[in-house]
Amino acid sequence: MDRIPLLPILFATTFGLLFSACTQQPTVSEQNVSRIMETLSSDQMKGRHAFGSGIELAADFISAEFENIGLSTLPGKDNFRQEFSIYTLKPKNASIIINNREVGGQYYFGLTNAETVSWTPNNTNVNYISAQDDYRKKFGEYSSDDESSVIVVDGEHEKLFHKYRTYFSRSNRTFELNSEPNDIFVIFDEKVNSYDITLENTVKSQGLSNIIGKIEGKRENEIVLFSAHYDHIGVVSAVDEDSIANGANDNASGVSAVIELARYFQNMPKPERTLYFVGFTAEEVGGYGSKYFSQQMDPNDIVAMFNIEMIGKPDVDGANSAWITGFDKSTFGEILQNSVSDSNFVFYPDPYPNQNLFYRSDNATLAKLGVPAHTISTTPIDVDQDYHRVSDEFNTLDITHATNTIRAIAKAARVIISAEQTPTRILNGEDNLTSNK
Ligand SMILES: [Zn+2]
Repeated sequence: MDRIPLLPILFATTFGLLFSACTQQPTVSEQNVSRIMETLSSDQMKGRHAFGSGIELAADFISAEFENIGLSTLPGKDNFRQEFSIYTLKPKNASIIINNREVGGQYYFGLTNAETVSWTPNNTNVNYISAQDDYRKKFGEYSSDDESSVIVVDGEHEKLFHKYRTYFSRSNRTFELNSEPNDIFVIFDEKVNSYDITLENTVKSQGLSNIIGKIEGKRENEIVLFSAHYDHIGVVSAVDEDSIANGANDNASGVSAVIELARYFQNMPKPERTLYFVGFTAEEVGGYGSKYFSQQMDPNDIVAMFNIEMIGKPDVDGANSAWITGFDKSTFGEILQNSVSDSNFVFYPDPYPNQNLFYRSDNATLAKLGVPAHTISTTPIDVDQDYHRVSDEFNTLDITHATNTIRAIAKAARVIISAEQTPTRILNGEDNLTSNK
């Protein structure tokens, strides 16, 4: 065999490696997507209920991934957790005296925001919902105004009153005690002359964490947000001896997208806009993670929000497509659509408008503040047999489809990240969104 001169080969190899290092795009690997989904949906995480025992493992896992990728923390922080507390109030004792008569437990309920609340003629007004009034409408008015009051309801509304009472007597959650007015609704058949009313709640405080990593862009105050909730519904009634709702599709799949997008963009040159990667907590119990997050931000700084939910199964139209909620509310969907038009992947408007999905995930909180905040999903929600059931397991997921969807999101996001394109804001977010809820 002839001797092959070594130097040219070495040179060619080195040059080739260098060359490919300069031009090669980072890729999203099925291996990582699969590993992340499998870990987050394992029984060890106990279904990741926001107030359950498995949620901390999930928070630690996402933090470790962010650390590994090399994301930055928020200013002044040495870890990826955005911590906050939620207070849960439950009715304990009550003493309801009106016109020197005691009112029985069936005939009142309170909407309260403190451990102990007292209503006396010195500190509150009395309002009436008469037999002729529209109960629902009046309830809405009195419960949302800025005043604490005693609302006396005519016995004609007893049936509806008991429905409301059942609902509102369970528990109430708040970020801050004593931050809202307190109302008490009472069925009473006379005009009120005197009253002395006290309600006591048990109060429990629980700590929660959003997980936030960042890639600093050239423009500090133009933020592109990639998010997914990492909590799920936890342990539920057993089906075939399985009681852990693993939440593989909902929403370990979305979190795998956020982590892999972080890895993808970390391997790209410094972006023009700043990127936030967020795992929201407590979506399933009322969206508290995204609510808290939005209160810490100036919404005007957020240029776009890619919220990702349930991309583990292709929609009925097949793989290589994903839909976007609230497509007509900003130009976000159109931008994504156009950015992948040279590929075989399609973004299209949410095909399930009756499900009100635009209002049912963490994007809604930011959209209310004007942010073009949309949810990207692929699961046929109307027929999916695993949604919020113990059967939402890792082995039902289509990893190739999820990976392709993440790749398409990465590709589509590039024109927004580079500031070549900016989606329009959502107009009148507050009015638009609350009336539709
Ligand atoms: Zn979800």
